[in-house]
Amino acid sequence: MGEISLQIELERMAKELGADLIGFADLTIAQDFICKQGGEYLRKFPRAVSIGIRLLDAIVDELYRHEDLGVIFTYKALYNTVNSRLDHIALLLAKKIQESGYQALPIPASQRIDRNKLIGVISHKLVANLSGLGWIGKSCLLITPQYGPRVRFASILTNAPLKTGSPIDMKCGNCGECVKICPIKAFTGVPFNPSEPREVRFNAHLCEDYMMKREEKLGERLCGLCVYICPHGRLNKI
Ligand code: SF4
Ligand code: SF4
Repeated sequence: MGEISLQIELERMAKELGADLIGFADLTIAQDFICKQGGEYLRKFPRAVSIGIRLLDAIVDELYRHEDLGVIFTYKALYNTVNSRLDHIALLLAKKIQESGYQALPIPASQRIDRNKLIGVISHKLVANLSGLGWIGKSCLLITPQYGPRVRFASILTNAPLKTGSPIDMKCGNCGECVKICPIKAFTGVPFNPSEPREVRFNAHLCEDYMMKREEKLGERLCGLCVYICPHGRLNKI
């Protein structure tokens, strides 16, 4: 299968299997950073496929009531179902790439390889950003023009010669809604800059501690206020 026909086939499969977004990233511009985080073996994958599934507004719209167990359990069920579907799609796309003669490594939607740094093999947000699917907002979430941050992502790393997109500029402007709503003030409000570490913008440990306290109190850890509040997700509804 040629480069173009493989790409068209991956797009077709992803949509048919339930993905709302698909993009293709050139990882070489961030490869040192990627290998430092996930391991030197990732260097053999110069490109990646990013797939996203949109969350349901009827659930995310209720997350301002994030102390309500009904709301948070519904959100958790959605979160798990979407993650599982993303992993399924990533596996099937990886198999298609492999059948075409290239290497492909699917990275699960929810992953953590370092409990202290709270990071995964690779940042799905970075891959989606490099694919041109959105920008990294002041909430450190990937903000898509279509659905704001109301999207979950998985990635497939590959050496297939796919045509890649380009990152899009940040469009947060003067907005600081996510900074304001976060109950433990985990965001500094500093805009994303690829040359600065995440700590400049986001204290992931504060968020993690807050979620652990929620788990003790409510039996569920997810919060989601920063996903709920972003105007790019709230205004761009069908
Ligand atoms: S999930 Fe909640 S606590 Fe964590 S950063 Fe977002 S708003 Fe803050
Ligand atoms: S809430 Fe505002 S500042 Fe935060 S990510 Fe969305 S647009 Fe950017």
